[in-house]
Amino acid sequence: MTSLDRLRLYIGGAWVPPSTSKTIPVDNPATEETIAQVPAGTAEDVDRAVTAAQAAFDGWAGRSMAERGEVLDRLHTSLAARAGDIAKTVGLELGTPLKVAKMVQAGLPLTVLRGYADLAVRPAENETIGNSLIVHEPVGVVGAITPWNYPLHQVVAKVAAALAAGCPVVLKPSELTPLVAFLLADAAEEAGVPAGVFNLVTGTGAEVGAVIAGHPGVDMVSFTGSTATGRAITHAAADRIARVALELGGKSANVILEDADLVKAVKVGVGNAFLNSGQTCTAWTRMLVHRSHYDEAVALAAKTAAGYTVGDPFDEGTRLGPLVSGTQRDRVRGFIERATARLVAGGLDAPVPGKGFFVAPTVFADVDPASELAQEEIFGPVLSIIPFEDDDHAVAIANNSRYGLAGGVWGSDERALAVAKRLRTGAVDVNGGSFNPFAPFGGYKQSGVGRELGEYGLAEFQQTKAIQR
Ligand code: NAD
Repeated sequence: MTSLDRLRLYIGGAWVPPSTSKTIPVDNPATEETIAQVPAGTAEDVDRAVTAAQAAFDGWAGRSMAERGEVLDRLHTSLAARAGDIAKTVGLELGTPLKVAKMVQAGLPLTVLRGYADLAVRPAENETIGNSLIVHEPVGVVGAITPWNYPLHQVVAKVAAALAAGCPVVLKPSELTPLVAFLLADAAEEAGVPAGVFNLVTGTGAEVGAVIAGHPGVDMVSFTGSTATGRAITHAAADRIARVALELGGKSANVILEDADLVKAVKVGVGNAFLNSGQTCTAWTRMLVHRSHYDEAVALAAKTAAGYTVGDPFDEGTRLGPLVSGTQRDRVRGFIERATARLVAGGLDAPVPGKGFFVAPTVFADVDPASELAQEEIFGPVLSIIPFEDDDHAVAIANNSRYGLAGGVWGSDERALAVAKRLRTGAVDVNGGSFNPFAPFGGYKQSGVGRELGEYGLAEFQQTKAIQR
């Protein structure tokens, strides 16, 4: 037993023993030590949780949006009181450097939750179209399945929106980083979220995730994770025509035009690509640079990457922590090993001696836009730099991807905006415009279906009814 062990599931408003005593170890990727055990949930546990959520539906859906907003407000208070624990937990189970853990891993979900609490208490407006009154109703019981890279943000983006809309949730967090979700359940219990409205079942994708996706009592599956799993979930939900929302992978381009502020564009671009050790679905992993600045950009990117400190997430000076697991580290190293482009920073040498799943911040230049490096989501600190001749060429390379999640464009305002509009992606930042947690977030093409965050994210969990009078 360690103090981080969590051996019960949160179902129907209570901490209950799971159906088996089997557990899943949670490892610290910086030390490779097991730090905790969590329940390896089963189909029986999912069933119990779905039944609890179904039982809670009428009561929760029957409350006004403003009443639900008050509950979210209390949940926010309880979760905010745990901000320090959240950052520390994500530092331990994922290896996020403490500064980023505080700002992003703890700060972002709190902002998102605050936003939904505020949105819910706003006075509702009656929408009419001719003789029809348009009303928005909760879609039903939601199964939420989330990945490990922003383990609380991805959970809260779903849970806060679903709860605001009136949907009870059964959550299955990633088995690699399940601990932080227990803090949310603690907060839900403390805040008096009604029984069955929020349920937590930990376990593997095969044993818990797949059962949630195929469960007849789950009206909607909201998933964030890999495109391959998104496909499996869509198949599982198809038989009963359950609604599916998918936030999947990306291979985003950072387009640096001829008239860009080159130094800023490259420095911000490298920082974006390597955020969270490159384990970010929106990471700008392809840097596209106009031929006239290409050599300068490559040199600057290499120098910037080489200047990043890799190491213990709990050291103040660390910029890059480890990757989440040995499997992920080996996968990323495989991409580096197979690459045929010109290596200008990082590579296969371990950046930290001894234990830990570390990979050096790595930059390749002269990357063929059709090659594996430029096409596959690597999910590690690996940046590919590609030259282009003019704006049309840049747009063609950027859009030459089966993904379409995010991107950046740098240049004079009008020109950069024109290029941004031509990118087939769900979001684009022009000249370093920062992430907006209330703007719609989601993918084109194989990056997903639907939108999260803000009002668009709320609408995902609603049915729309027309009442004619
Ligand atoms: P993953 O698809 O392996 O796992 C995600 C979740 O799905 C986990 O909880 C896992 O247990 C579960 N799962 C696995 N197989 C399942 C199945 N057959 N049925 C139901 N559930 C199953 O992804 P990951 O490795 O945890 O996360 C990395 C991926 O997530 C990357 O591809 C990344 O781009 C993507 N991602 C996307 C976004 C986004 O918002 N678009 C955000 C973060 C991560």
